Formats: sequence, structure tokens, C-alpha cells
Amino acid sequence: MYKEIINTSHKLSTKKYNKDMGNPKAFLTIPRQEAGYRPIHDRISDYSEVEQTLNSRDRKLQASRCMDCGVPFCHWACPLGNKQPEFQDAIYKGKWEEAYKILNETNDFPEFTGRICPALCEKSCVLKLSMDSPVTIRENEAAIAEAAFREGYIKPRNIERNGRKVAVIGAGPAGLAAANQLNGKGYTVTVFDKNEAPGGLLRYGIPNFKLHKPIIDRRIRVMEEEGIHFKMNSDVDVRQLPEGFDAYCICTGAPTARDLPVPGRELKGIHPALDMLAQQNRILAGMTFPKEQLVTAKGKKVLVIGGGDTGSDCIGTSNRQGAVSVTQIEIMPQPPVGQNPATPWPQFPIVLKTTSSHEEGCSRLWSLATRKFLGKNGKVCGVEVEQVEWTPGPDSGRPAMKPTGKVEVIEADLVLLAMGFLKPEHPQFAENVFVAGDAASGASLVVRAIASGRKAATDIDSYLNK
Ligand SMILES: Cc1cc2nc3c(=O)[nH]c(=O)nc-3n(C[C@H](O)[C@H](O)[C@H](O)COP(=O)(O)OP(=O)(O)OC[C@H]3O[C@@H](n4cnc5c(N)ncnc54)[C@H](O)[C@@H]3O)c2cc1C
Ligand code: SF4
Repeated sequence: MYKEIINTSHKLSTKKYNKDMGNPKAFLTIPRQEAGYRPIHDRISDYSEVEQTLNSRDRKLQASRCMDCGVPFCHWACPLGNKQPEFQDAIYKGKWEEAYKILNETNDFPEFTGRICPALCEKSCVLKLSMDSPVTIRENEAAIAEAAFREGYIKPRNIERNGRKVAVIGAGPAGLAAANQLNGKGYTVTVFDKNEAPGGLLRYGIPNFKLHKPIIDRRIRVMEEEGIHFKMNSDVDVRQLPEGFDAYCICTGAPTARDLPVPGRELKGIHPALDMLAQQNRILAGMTFPKEQLVTAKGKKVLVIGGGDTGSDCIGTSNRQGAVSVTQIEIMPQPPVGQNPATPWPQFPIVLKTTSSHEEGCSRLWSLATRKFLGKNGKVCGVEVEQVEWTPGPDSGRPAMKPTGKVEVIEADLVLLAMGFLKPEHPQFAENVFVAGDAASGASLVVRAIASGRKAATDIDSYLNK
């Protein structure tokens, strides 16, 4: 693996911006400083972004901590191949516009990744290995994006058209990245989406307290001014694609949530997580729903099934809606705290993650399998769970689950299922149809969706020019 990292990093990292790194020893005296979250009492009753920002002086100091390693593992770890050492150096020298240009070469939407990327790069930073305090790469990225919008470095481009048309189906981060890249190459791009506004899960999944929706609107405005057409409320049948386009990019995401077909599943009060998350984001955008359609945690004992990020978003949303209690259960065992020998540096560490939503209040339980939902008058009132044990699989393969017979009941009058999404299946498409984002990979991350949308744009361009 190391050979691959070194080869890839040398191949991809260009040092053209960075002949004399500003202060390669700054990390010895300047500690990592995160902007941190707003205090819990302040943030718990609103949906504004929880993360704060540093002033530009402190931001420069943080950027100065980058050592400009010979092999930038951060660059290897980022699915976009962002050139982190180069943009850190530009920030350190106060060259914000240059920092934006470097970042924008590889990332269409740093204002999204700068807010919600799990920062794969930081886990691979050499300062993570040596002092467990990586450079604040993600926050620095967000700071560059904000400076670029604030200072007017991001302006609609005048693009010469090449006479070809491409349809993008799905306006999530993959579709937006594909559209942005293709538009930049001169194609006339139309983006179709069944939702009322673009953004995909950025808008109708990820809570506002992680990503404020005007951040999406601001980017869409630039894209529209550059000539991209958005056709919203357009549910496209991918077996009958709209006519009149030279190529198509299918970016329809991974919309089918994994269900839990155990006895009692039909009871009222059991919902896929997105029923609640998408509805809450729509309510914040001004939509209203009849009372009987509301999925609300107000005054309820909430049980979230699934220990991942979607589950964490349900916790933050439930607490804001006024839940009486929130419990999150996970079938897998609790991951190790801090370090995990199974995922050594520079890999992404599988360790216990405590999000801002966890901090706001919830119980977390592991190694619990759900046996059945319990109900009263047709409504869920609890869940019967069983402790399970996990034993390592042969040849370090998939671990085996063993029931222990230890059963307990967790009271709940709202159950949210956050157990991931099924990998989408597609019909055999014609050769001018390309698939990107979660629609191609299965549920993943925003940064991977953007990378995949960019790759699809390159493939479409090569196809149309072959
Ligand atoms: C609750 C939640 C929280 C998440 N939090 C994070 C996070 O913090 N960080 C992170 O990196 N990732 C996060 N993710 C994952 C991330 O949101 C996805 O990986 C990413 O949005 C995938 O992008 P995409 O463009 O492939 O698909 P999507 O964002 O799902 O977009 C697909 C779009 O296609 C449209 N569409 C589907 N079918 C059709 C059709 N037939 N016709 C027209 N339009 C159609 C949909 O309306 C949608 O707008 C989260 C996911 C969830 C569910
Ligand atoms: S997109 Fe994510 S992985 Fe890449 S540099 Fe930004 S924070 Fe790091």
C-alpha cells in the first residue's frame, strides 16, 4: 500500500505553487486549534450551523502548521486529490485568491466539503501520526471558500458553447459536479431533478445545523448565471431518457433505505430516517405539512436504530424538535476509542466517533439486534432487543454474529431506521449514458460523489470527442 501511496502522491501532487514553503516548523510551536461548536445551550434550540469559524489571523496560523511533507498523504487520502500543502501555504502567505484557485482546480464545491466532509485527509496527515493533531484541512478549506464568495473571486464565467447538449439526471453533489465540469467545457447542460430544489441529500438529508441551505442556493445561482438549466419537479424515467441530448449522466443517488422487516414493523411511529430529516429541512424552507403527516420527536421517547452518521443526524434533529429522550442502538460492537490497530495510519480509522449531535444528549448502546417492535393500539411503544456477540471471521473475513439470549425492551414511541441504503441497480444503458455518485457506488460521501461526477464529466467529454 505504501508504494502505491508514494507513487500516486508524487504523480498527482504538483509543487508548482510552492517552491518555498512558508514556515515548515510552525507545527512545533502552534497547536491545532479547531473553531469548535457553538455552546450546547445556545445551539440546541435552533437549526443554525453548529460549527464556528476562526478569525483570519488564527486561520493563517493553522495553515502554517502544514509541513509540506515530501509525500503528502492528505492528498492521497482525498478522493478529489485536493492539493492541501499548496493551499495551506497560500493561506499562510495571505494569498486567499491563489488558495481558492488551487482548491478550485480539484474541487467544484469546497463550501460543501469544507463543512461536512469527514476529512479523510486529516486522518492521513503526518501530524496525525506524529502528534495526533493534524492540520485543520477541512476548516481551512471552508475558510477559503467563504473568502472566495465574500471577496468576489467566484464570478460567473463566460463560456464558449461547443454545440453539444448533455442531460444530468439528479441534482445532488454528483450531478452538480458533473454539470459544472461539462458546462465549463462548453456543453449546454440541463439538470433534471424530481425534487423542488437542487442539492439532493445536501438539501433534503443533511440537517441545516450541519449545512445551512443558502450555501447551496448561492452556488446554484452562480451555476445558473453560467448557463446551466435546472429543471426541477422532473421525475425522469431512466429507461426513457429525455430526447435531444448527446449524452446523459445519471446521478440519482441511492434512494432506497434498508428496512428492518421484523414483527411489528407495520406499527405507526416507525419511519426511515429520511422521512424525518427531509421533512424537517422542508419545514425550515417554509413548507407546511398536515398534522397527521408530521414525523416529529416532540414529547416522544425516540429510538434511533443505526449507529452511523444518518443516525447521528436523527439525534440532533430529535433533540431540536423536543424529544423527551433519545437512544441510539447499533448491532455492531462499540469501536475502539482513539486508535484502532485494525486501521492503522494513514488509513481512515474505524474508531468511536462522537458528533456534535451526540454531545447534545443521547444514550448510545452497541451490540444490540432488534428482535421485534412492540405496540399498543397500533402504535409503537417499544422495541425488543437482544445482546449479540461478534467473533472474528476466518482469515480476517466478515465477523460472525452470535445471539446471547439476553433480551431487553427499550421504550420508544418514535423509531427511526438509519441502517444505510441499498446499492441501486440500473438497466443496461446505451453507450452515451454514464452513471455517477451514489447511483454508481452505493451510499457514500459528498466528496466521493463530487469526485465521481467530475470523472463522469471527463468520460462524457472523451466519449463525445472520440
Ligand atoms: C442523512 C444523511 C446525512 C449525510 N451526511 C453526510 C455528511 O455529513 N458528509 C458526507 O460526506 N456525506 C454525508 N451523507 C452522504 C451524502 O449525502 C451522499 O453520499 C451524497 O449526497 C451522494 O450524492 P449524489 O449526488 O450521488 O446523490 P444524492 O445527493 O442522493 O442526489 C440524488 C438526486 O437525484 C434525484 N433523483 C433521483 N431519482 C430521480 C429521477 N428518477 N428523476 C429525477 N431526479 C431524480 C434526487 O431527487 C436527488 O436530488 C449523508 C447522507 C445522509 C442520508
Ligand atoms: S474534500 Fe475532504 S478529504 Fe478532501 S481535502 Fe477537503 S476535507 Fe480533506
